Amino acid sequence: MDAVSDGMRMVLSQLKQDPYALETVWVSVIVFAGKAKTVVPLTELMSFYPPKLPVGGGTSYERGIGHLINALNSEVKGSTSETKGDWKPIVIFISDGAPTDRGTSWMSDWQNGWKNKVQSIALAIGAGVDMSLLERFATTVMKIDEVESNSSQMKSFFTWISASVSANSKSLGLTGEAEGQAVPTELSVESDGESVNSNVDDEHAIFLGQCQKHRKGYLIKYTKGTEVSPMLEMDVEVYRMSGAYAIDDTYVDLSDDRDGVGQPVISTENLRGVPNCPVCENSFALCVCSCGGIFCVDGPGTQTCPHCEKTSEFGAGGGHLNLNRKFG
Ligand SMILES: [Zn+2]
Ligand SMILES: [Zn+2]
Repeated sequence: MDAVSDGMRMVLSQLKQDPYALETVWVSVIVFAGKAKTVVPLTELMSFYPPKLPVGGGTSYERGIGHLINALNSEVKGSTSETKGDWKPIVIFISDGAPTDRGTSWMSDWQNGWKNKVQSIALAIGAGVDMSLLERFATTVMKIDEVESNSSQMKSFFTWISASVSANSKSLGLTGEAEGQAVPTELSVESDGESVNSNVDDEHAIFLGQCQKHRKGYLIKYTKGTEVSPMLEMDVEVYRMSGAYAIDDTYVDLSDDRDGVGQPVISTENLRGVPNCPVCENSFALCVCSCGGIFCVDGPGTQTCPHCEKTSEFGAGGGHLNLNRKFG
């Protein structure tokens, strides 16, 4: 998210130096996770400042693209006999995850509606994105490997975006036709023509907890792997801890309220590693209350669950609990 925010800032500062772009470009920002919301409504480039991008749980293309279609319907003005409408909008769609729902109703709405009336660019970050799905959505699809390790790729993506928007704002002024820019080779995607599989993300298991001391939310992320079971003498599926992150209130706003529906439940028996609380550093962030809530503890003893406010004794339980996973 930070890399995307930086990129957005770079594009805007470049475009603001372009007199054609200043006159013609309007910008809007929509974010989506499990839900979607408009962070900045359509705003003139001159008075647009890049917002802080919130994060949320889940990756619902259904809701993200649905929200986008509504925004285009209500904000983009078509030509009438008296006035010339808006130029062809440029949609930049950035995703770093596989969809967490199977909804595909957006596909026909999009393809029969806006797909041919906008210039659509999709950027996939990381290996978890379903490229064939992005190819259904966008006319230009690009890909970068990792946000952190490849900032030069990120940079060339956003450089391409500003060059492309800039070129469009100039050519539109003269001919009304948009102009294509060649995609940088390091970002190009070979289309393998694979059929669309809208699998839910089952590579990760994510749990939402709350800090007992500070009542702030956090996420614990596990990544699927295998290990050899000495008892069964075969590979079994396990989830290894890959991180714990404090989250702010916007997370809940953007998270899918259908979270966990239809998702497999994971037993703590299959989890490897428990992190410290990322909010208060308590040593055990995966204490499960009888209400089902997850919170942090500093060790065995009397604890108050921040979800249901019940106080009870927690020991190092020998039994295995089943946890509902959240969308990542
Ligand atoms: Zn804590
Ligand atoms: Zn509780």
